[in-house]
Order: sequence, then C-alpha cells, then structure tokens
Amino acid sequence: MATQLKSGTNEYGIKSEYGHFIGGEWISSDSGKTIDLINPATGAVLTKIQAGNAKDIQRAVAAAKAAFPKWSESSPAERQDILIEVARRLKARHQHYATLETLNNGKPIRESMYFDMPQAIGQFELFAGAAYGLHGQSMDYPDAVGIVHREPLGVCAQIIPWNVPMLMMACKIAPALASGNTVVLKPAETVCLSVIEFFVEMADLLPPGVINVVTGYGPDVGEALVTHEDVRKVAFTGSVGTARRIMQYASTNIIPQTLELGGKSAHIVCADADIDAAVESATMSTVLNKGEVCLAGSRLFLHESIQDEFLAKFKVALEGIRQGDPLDFATQLGAQASQMQMDKVVSYLELATEEGADVLTGGSRNNNLADGHFISPTVFTNVNNSMRIAREEIFGPVTSVISWKDEDDMMKVANDTNYGLAGGIWTRDIARAHRMARKLETGTVWINRYYNLKANMPLGGYKQSGFGREFSHEVLNHYTQTKSVVVNLQEGRTGMFDQ
Ligand code: NAD
Repeated sequence: MATQLKSGTNEYGIKSEYGHFIGGEWISSDSGKTIDLINPATGAVLTKIQAGNAKDIQRAVAAAKAAFPKWSESSPAERQDILIEVARRLKARHQHYATLETLNNGKPIRESMYFDMPQAIGQFELFAGAAYGLHGQSMDYPDAVGIVHREPLGVCAQIIPWNVPMLMMACKIAPALASGNTVVLKPAETVCLSVIEFFVEMADLLPPGVINVVTGYGPDVGEALVTHEDVRKVAFTGSVGTARRIMQYASTNIIPQTLELGGKSAHIVCADADIDAAVESATMSTVLNKGEVCLAGSRLFLHESIQDEFLAKFKVALEGIRQGDPLDFATQLGAQASQMQMDKVVSYLELATEEGADVLTGGSRNNNLADGHFISPTVFTNVNNSMRIAREEIFGPVTSVISWKDEDDMMKVANDTNYGLAGGIWTRDIARAHRMARKLETGTVWINRYYNLKANMPLGGYKQSGFGREFSHEVLNHYTQTKSVVVNLQEGRTGMFDQ
C-alpha cells in the first residue's frame, strides 16, 4: 500500500528514506522493498530508496498522462519562468547538490561544484529560452497556405545512469518540459540521491504529475515503463547492452528513442602539439569523474616523435594527482561509484597485463585507501587496438596509449571501434586539425582541449554510441512531432471529377 513517507534529515540534509515522486506526492513502492544508497568512499549507507515495480510505473505514467493536457497548453512564458526558477534554485543551493552528488557517486567535490552543477544548470538556462523559440513554420502557395506546427509528444520515459546524475537528469528533463511534455524519470539504482533531492526541492514549482520519479532496478521498472502503452517516447543514457533491450521494449508500441551510449574515444596528439597542454588534457581525461565518463579519451594516440617526452610528463602529472576523501576540496581523484564498478575496473587492470600491455603508472587499487573503491590513475603503454582494453569501455581512471607514425594509418585505427562518441585532436596546424576532425567517425571532436563541453553544442554518438542528440536545441526535434496543416485559399469546387 502506497503511503506518504516522512523522515528526518541528517547533517547533509539527507532523509533516512525517499519515496517515489508520483503525481506531486512522495509514496512508498508497491513492492514494500527498498534499496540502500551507499557512499563509495566509505561504504556507509546514505539512505534508502524505493525498489519500484510495474504497479508503481502504472501509477506514475497515469499521473504524467493526466497532467499532460494542461501542461502541454501552458504558455511559453509559464514554462520559461519555471525553468528559470529551477536554474535559480539550483544555483542558490549548488553546494548542497554538489555535496550529495559527491557523497553518493564518489566524485571529488571540486568536480561536482565546478563541472557537474554548472553543466546541469546550463541545461535549464538553455531550454528556458527554448520555450519561446519553439515554433513551427509557414509556407505560402498560390492556392494555399501551409503551417507546420510543432507539438509535444506526451508522456516521456527517461532512464539515466549513475555517473553524472544531475547533468543527465537536467539534459533530459529541461528540453522535455520546455516543449510541453510530461516525464517519468528512472534514475540509476546505485547513485540518484542528488536527483531525488532535486525533486524534493522543486516539487512546488510544477503542477502535480508533470515530473515523476520512480526508483528501482532496471529490469523491474525499465521494461514496464518503456512498454507502457501511454508512453510516447524514451530517452535513454546507459550501456549498449541495456540499449539493445530498450530498443526491443520501444518496438512494442513503436515509440521513438534517443540513445546516448558508451564510448572508446581517440585522443590524438600530433608531433606539433602543445605538449604541456595536451598532457594536462590527457590527465583530465583519465581522472575526471574517476574515468567514469562516456566521453573519456581512453585511447591516447601519441605520435612516436613526441611519445617519450609526453609519457614522462604524463607519468609525473598522474603520480601527483591527489586521491582521497571526495568531500575534501584538495582531492582530484575520488572513488569508483560502486563495488561492482571497482571490481569491473580491477578485472580490466588484470586483463591488460595478460594481453601484454606495460604499466606506465598505477595498475591497481590504491591500497592506502582500502576502505573505499579507490583505483590509482593508470596508464598502459605498448597497447594495440585489437586488445580488449582498447576496444571495451573500462569506465575507470585508465588510459591506453597507442603509438602512431602515419596520419592516414592512425585515423583508420582511431576509427576502428564500435563506438563513435567523441574524439580529441592536438595540433597547431589548422588545416590538419579540420582534416582529421572530418575523418573522425564521432559525434563530437574537440581540438586543442578535451572535454570542452558547451550546453548548446549537440552531443551524441555515431555507430554504437547511440543516436539522437542532446545538449542543444536539436534535442527539441526529439521531444516534438510536427503537424502539417494546409489551408485552401480558393473558393468552391475544383471540378476535378466533372464528367
Ligand atoms: P546501464 O545500461 O547499466 O544502466 C543505465 C540505466 O538503465 C540505469 O538507470 C539502469 O537501472 C537502467 N536499466 C538497466 N537495465 C534496464 C532494463 N532492462 N530496462 C530498462 N532500464 C534498465 O548503464 P550504467 O552502467 O548505469 O551507465 C554507464 C553507461 O552509460 C556507460 O556505457 C556510459 O558510457 C554510458 N553513458 C553515456 C552517456 C552519453 O551521453 N552518451 C553519458 C553517461 C553515461
């Protein structure tokens, strides 16, 4: 039986248990079961969330469906005001959200504060403006006028992962709301504290049912959500394996999908690169969010002429990285988000040696921090692109170095991957930079600085990194459908069937 949950908060403002947020109310799951959210840096239980089931999904979709007619007819001004207020509240409390993100995910607080939160806020600011910018087209004909309306889809299912929850939530909810849809969000069962707190603090802003959250294990709630006959779209971010299932679920009712999946991106350093700046970017690419980033430049292609100098500096940079308590502002590398993720990374560290790679630095857990899921920043050299460590997403602070000599040969190897999410190029030669960028089979290419994310630059994948785009007005195409209305300007019959 669903009930309103009540509980006190601890020193971080965390309640002892969180419900689903459905139809403007906090309710417990029909399953009667909960899941512990863990601090991966200490192993401590932070709180409990609901282990949802199909009945919870029924309820959430019904609430979102009921809220849709009114919300879809709200004015752009209303939607803009709300999205601006969301951004304002996030800014005002960004330290609170950053702390929760860090406590549950293990990422350093400086990243949560200065990367995740500004990026998440940026999505609400961007799409607040889009509420007014969302308009159709008109076309003139000698005998008619055509109007293309853009209309919202209805209830959107949004499923997000655990690595950057606030940003993933923001880049899905903001465009969906701006374009007049209602939402049922399913965050990851391991890391979602910040996202749930977001709903706690924004609950009064939106009419009941416009945004809903159901927590729980993927198979228990994900299938029920995506196959529900009243869901009109699914936006998924996660792994390729789950995406295959999502595609099958979405085929049940023929609903459109956007899929943001994994990556094994090439970070390419040419002989004429600014080596110090490239080393800094490669360091960031290795350690940012403990390497749990779909965009990570995890295959580092070094031109053989600068390889020795680069690796010497890279080793020094990584060995100077301060790893430790993620809540300490000095910390630069935190803890893997879960035991499962740490075990997965460790298994790849073992595999790398079996495959014949050499360890430049790291290569194991950080034994000085044995209580949490800490892995030393790791670089493997002597890697070739056919090794599993060069082909599979490790999702840890691990970079594999591949040496190159000839540009054309290297580009073939860089593109020899199932993924196509991002790539980085370091060169001072502008023609070469553009030439290489065109050849890279990826949705994003950064030249002379990795991770140069902009809220309004489309983000998404080629090949098995997915399809559809987020992070830009382009995403509004995925949250609207067009209706063509043609008005005849001529009077009377056409005479076409006269005898
Ligand atoms: P995952 O696929 O295991 O889980 C993602 C989400 O799907 C979670 O909420 C999970 O509960 C849910 N899920 C699991 N099984 C499901 C099912 N059968 N039906 C419906 N939902 C289900 O992925 P993950 O391990 O949480 O996330 C890491 C992956 O996400 C990596 O591959 C990473 O590259 C990718 N990612 C991509 C982007 C991007 O923008 N392209 C961004 C962040 C993460």
